[in-house]
Amino acid sequence: MAVYRTKSREGRETRLFPKQAESSSIKHQASNIMIRITDIEEAMEKYSPVADMELVNRAYIYSARVHDGQVRLSGEPYLSHPLEVAGILADMRLDAVSVAAGLLHDVVEDTHATPEEIKEMFGDEVCHIVCGVTKISKLPFHTTQTRQAENLRKMLLAMADDIRVILIKLADRLHNMRTLKYHKKEDKKRQIAKETLDIYAPIASRLGIYWIKKELEDSSFMYMLPQEYEKVKQMVSKDKAGREEYVETVKRLIQEGMESGGLTCEVLGRYKHFYSIYHKMKNQNLSFEDVYDIIAFRIIMDATPQCYEALGRLHTIWKPIDIKFKDYIGRPKPNMYRSLHTTVIGPYGERVEIQIRTHEMDQVAKSGIAAHWSYKEGKRADENISQKFAWIQNLIENHENTPDPNEFLENVRIDLFPDEVYLFTPRGEVKALTKGATPVDFAYAIHSEVGHQCVGAKVNGQMIPLRHELDTGDIVEVITANEHHPSRDWLKFVKTVRAKTRIKQWIKAQDKERSIALGREMCEKAFRKHRLNYHALVKSEDMEKVVEQFGFKAVDDLIANVGYGKITPLQIVRKFLKSEEELEDKKSKPKSFFDKLIRIKKKKAGDGVIVKGIEDVLVRFGKCCQPVPGDPITGYITRGQGVTVHKQSCADIRRMNNPEREIEVSWSQDVTESYPVRIRVLSYDRVGLLADLATHISKSGANILNVNSETRENQVVDSFFTLAVKDTDHLKRIMASIRKVKRIMEVKRVDRY
Ligand code: MN
Repeated sequence: MAVYRTKSREGRETRLFPKQAESSSIKHQASNIMIRITDIEEAMEKYSPVADMELVNRAYIYSARVHDGQVRLSGEPYLSHPLEVAGILADMRLDAVSVAAGLLHDVVEDTHATPEEIKEMFGDEVCHIVCGVTKISKLPFHTTQTRQAENLRKMLLAMADDIRVILIKLADRLHNMRTLKYHKKEDKKRQIAKETLDIYAPIASRLGIYWIKKELEDSSFMYMLPQEYEKVKQMVSKDKAGREEYVETVKRLIQEGMESGGLTCEVLGRYKHFYSIYHKMKNQNLSFEDVYDIIAFRIIMDATPQCYEALGRLHTIWKPIDIKFKDYIGRPKPNMYRSLHTTVIGPYGERVEIQIRTHEMDQVAKSGIAAHWSYKEGKRADENISQKFAWIQNLIENHENTPDPNEFLENVRIDLFPDEVYLFTPRGEVKALTKGATPVDFAYAIHSEVGHQCVGAKVNGQMIPLRHELDTGDIVEVITANEHHPSRDWLKFVKTVRAKTRIKQWIKAQDKERSIALGREMCEKAFRKHRLNYHALVKSEDMEKVVEQFGFKAVDDLIANVGYGKITPLQIVRKFLKSEEELEDKKSKPKSFFDKLIRIKKKKAGDGVIVKGIEDVLVRFGKCCQPVPGDPITGYITRGQGVTVHKQSCADIRRMNNPEREIEVSWSQDVTESYPVRIRVLSYDRVGLLADLATHISKSGANILNVNSETRENQVVDSFFTLAVKDTDHLKRIMASIRKVKRIMEVKRVDRY
C-alpha cells in the first residue's frame, strides 16, 4: 500500500519527504547500504539541472581526503556521515552550497582543516555556513535541563545567521540519531536522545519540517523510554489487518463522498507517529483503546477553493466536532503551514482527524521553511543568496499566496533573530537577556545579591569592563565582593528591567536608611528642646498612636518622612505636648524679612528642583548663594529642614565639607517661578540714575525685590539689587541691559548678602 511505503536507497525520490511509516526510524537504522556521491548528484540533477555540481564534487573529494582514516562508531569510514548528511540535504532539495557545506560540516571541528582553507577553496558562503555549524557544535549543551530548553533553542537559532546552518545541523542530528545504536554507553544514548527531543525536534517543528520532527521524536522516544516505545509499537501493529481494512473503508467513503459532489481528490491515511500517540495517551490520560485517532486522513485537492468545498462535503457526510476545526489556510502558521483541520464523527461513531490541503500546501507542510530554500522546476526562488537574510525577504515576495507577507517575515525574524542574547553561566546554565546586556545585567539575572556585589566580570576567561556588551554564546563569570554596593552610574548602561529595578530599589532603600538616621537625629533634638525623652517615647504606645495619626504603619516610616523633610519634628512633638502654651514657650524666634521671602520659595520636588532618588522632599534654597535655574547645583541634607539647594560653587558647601550629606539635585525642566538673585552695580553718580536702572530692569521683565544704594568717595555709587529672575539667561539679559545705562562702571552677580 502506497501510504505505508518505506524508504530505500534505490528509490531516493520516495525519500524526499517520507510519509511517516509505522517504523521509519527503525528502518533507517537497519540500512547498511552506504550512500554514494553519485546518488546525491543524481538527485540534485533532477531538481536542479543548473546546480553547481563541480562545487559539490570538490567538497566531496576534500572531505574524503581530510576525514581519511577516521571511522564512525559503526565501524564505517567517517566519510559515510557527511555523505548521509548531504543526502538528507539533497532530499530537502537544497542548493549546491548547502550540500557542499553538508559534506564539509565536520572538517573544521574534527580534522586539521582550517576556516581559511575552506574559504579559499570553496568561497565565503560555504565557509560561513561550515563555521556556523562548528560554532553551534561547540555549545555546551550537555547540561541540558528541560526548563532551559527554550532558551537553548532560541540561542541556537540566534547564532545561526544563515538558516542553512540550522538545516545542516538538523540533517546532522538526524543521521546521528539513525546511528545512535552504535554508541556503547546507555546513559550517553539517553542524554543525546533527550537533547534531540528537547532542542532539535522543536526546532524542526518550528521551521515546519515535520518529517524530521517526527523521525527525531520517534527515535528519541525509543532511546529514552524503550518500554513505552515497545508498548505503543505493539499496540499499533496489533490487529493490523483489521485496521488497514478500516483505513481503506474510510478512504473509500471519503472518495465517494467527494466524487458525488463532483470533486476529484487524493485521499491518504496514515498512522500518527509513535511519540504523538504516546504523548496523547499521557497528556490526556487515555488508554490506547481510547486514542481513536491514531490514524489521520488527508485529502489533497487541486486548488484552494476546492479545499473549502471538500470541507463542506465532508461535514455533510460526517458530523464535525466543531471545537476541533482549524483554518490554517485562512490563517497560515508562521512557518507557512497551510491546511484545513477538522475532526468528525466517523462511520463507526469514532473520532476521525482529517486534513484538507492542496498539493502545493502539502509540499510546504512536508518541508516547511526548507521548501522556500529548495529548487522549484530547476530554478531557485531566491537568486540573491549572498545577502545574509535576504532570502527570507525574497521568498516572501515570490510567494504569491501569502496573505500578509510582512506578518510572516516578522514572525520568522522574531523566531530566528530575537532581540535577545543567550549567555552561559560557568556551570552551563543559559540566561536569555535583552540585546546589549552587560555583565551587571547578567549578575542581576543570577541573583539580586550577585548584582549588588558585582565588581567585575570575565567573559570567556577574559576580564572585561562592567559596561561591556555581551554576545550570544559568551560564558560569563561574575566577580563579586562582599562589601561592594551598586552604583548610580550603573543605571546609565544596564539594559534589563530587572537590573534597573533592583539598582533603583537599592538606592531608594539606602536613601530611606539615610533619611531614618537623619529623621531620628532631628527628632531627638526637637524632643530634647521640649524636655521630652525621644528614646523612651519612641517605644511607647503613644508613639504607635501618633504613627497611626500620620497615616503610617511603622515608626521608621514616620521618622524617614521627617528625614525627607515632609514632616517637621515639631509636628510630632506637638502630639506629645499637653498644652499649646507649653508649645508657645518653645517656639523659635521670628524670622527676618529675607527669611520669609525664602520661605515662600520653599517647595516640593518637581516644583523647580528634582532631588535624585527621593520623591516628594522639602526643598529650600541656600541664602548664601541664591542659585537660579541654569546654575549647576547640589543638594545638602540639613538637620530638620529637608534639602537645601546650593550652587555647586558655593563657598559654604565647600567649607562644611561633608560629602555624606550632599545629594544630587537638578533643575526640573518646567520651572515657571522666579528666584531671588543679588547683583551689584557700580556707577558714577548722576541725577536719575536709580530711575534709569529701575526702568531697564523692569523692561527686562524682572521684579526688584530689594535695593540698597550707597554713595562712596569720588562720586561712585555702589548699589545692591535683589531681583526675581527666571533663570541664568534671564539674569544675563538684565545685566546686559543695565550695562547700557549711562555712566555704569560694573555690573556683577554677588553671592553674599
Ligand atoms: Mn556531524
